[in-house]
Amino acid sequence: MRRLVCALCGREAKGFGYVHEMRLDEVPHHRFCSMACCDAGGALARRSNGVIDRTPMESRAVKEARRPFAEVLQELGLLAPFADRSAAEIDRLIEACVDGFQASMRRQAVERDPLDDPIPF
Ligand SMILES: [Zn+2]
Repeated sequence: MRRLVCALCGREAKGFGYVHEMRLDEVPHHRFCSMACCDAGGALARRSNGVIDRTPMESRAVKEARRPFAEVLQELGLLAPFADRSAAEIDRLIEACVDGFQASMRRQAVERDPLDDPIPF
């Protein structure tokens, strides 16, 4: 099964690829959604022998999403009901959105007809 989601952020991969040291016969081969993710993910893979471990990055990304989440709550006038909630509870909300988004991306990638795949490798 070919992965059609970005190796870094989980969005739809759009033809940006990274092959560690250009050894095309060897996995892992990573796909990315954008040049920005390709550059960042490629740099990450080079530093860790071709492997991208998203776990520590995901934990930090959830924490760093608290601020934009709070900004939207404020814009919508919803900050008060969340004011006495713990950081862990806020993180659960953020993770639910991210997990739901990524699960849908993976489902859609699996459902896609591989003959329609515009990615040439
Ligand atoms: Zn991406």
